[in-house]
Amino acid sequence: MMLNCPRCGQSIQQSAIACPRCRTPLKAHGHPGIVLHRATGAESLCKSCLYDADDTCNYPQRPDARECTMYHDVTIPIVSTPQRYETSPGVWIRRNAGWIALVMLIILSFGLALSRR
Ligand code: SF4
Ligand SMILES: [Zn+2]
Repeated sequence: MMLNCPRCGQSIQQSAIACPRCRTPLKAHGHPGIVLHRATGAESLCKSCLYDADDTCNYPQRPDARECTMYHDVTIPIVSTPQRYETSPGVWIRRNAGWIALVMLIILSFGLALSRR
């Protein structure tokens, strides 16, 4: 199957990673698993892209990208799995068993010391 270069319209091999005519990188075409985001309205993708907002993008097409494989909608946060086990008291006690034992020992020895007076 032949595709056309999004920049110059040159017909290109599906496996091509760059346009043979204008050298536009075509990674999304060569790697079908990667989503190539396309601007639908008049605004460039960068306007609503997280990597433009946090200034981490160094793509040359920024800030006027209309097609981009790296685009991430700024309104959708990058999902971070909450570390639930950190907050579970059972696990906290097991993890800090050494310290808990030490604190109890100190309290106990204080108690003993006081009761002997
Ligand atoms: S990742 Fe793409 S859409 Fe996002 S700022 Fe960079 S060039 Fe623009
Ligand atoms: Zn081209």
